[in-house]
Amino acid sequence: MIEVEQVIKYAKMLNFKSLSALRSGNISVKYKNGFLITPSGVKYSQLETEDVVFVFLDGKFESLKQKPSSEWRIHKDIYVNKKEANAVVHAHSTHATAVSAHGKSIPAFHYMVALAGGDDIKCAEYATFGTEELSKNILDALDKRKTCLMSNHEEFLRFFQIMK
Ligand SMILES: [Zn+2]
Repeated sequence: MIEVEQVIKYAKMLNFKSLSALRSGNISVKYKNGFLITPSGVKYSQLETEDVVFVFLDGKFESLKQKPSSEWRIHKDIYVNKKEANAVVHAHSTHATAVSAHGKSIPAFHYMVALAGGDDIKCAEYATFGTEELSKNILDALDKRKTCLMSNHEEFLRFFQIMK
């Protein structure tokens, strides 16, 4: 299944590119009536096909071995609310950590900011990880955007429209 291979390939790239260390951050790809997501607690350098977890859009999951990333709810809520999203990448980069700690949007200081979909990159307000409140804050920050920071979560989030 090509989608499983994509999840593994890009999860490993999060490590290689120093966007997220070891098992932190998470990646998913939309698949049928749900999505395939990186598991909780497995180092990405050791990821194998059967570690990837399928989660339905109602939050139930099917897995041979693992539980889904503890941040699966964010991915689910993006797929439910953003029909154009085909993949979600959630990284813990050092730079995003430093910027998100200020809780402010990134203004259009550079043309690459436009890749987020508008003239700034918004910062989602803090809420406890895994909660519906955090998903709501992220969806607010993703209004008319494809990318946001997550305040005090040391994180960066982006969804993609994959051309098929
Ligand atoms: Zn995270």
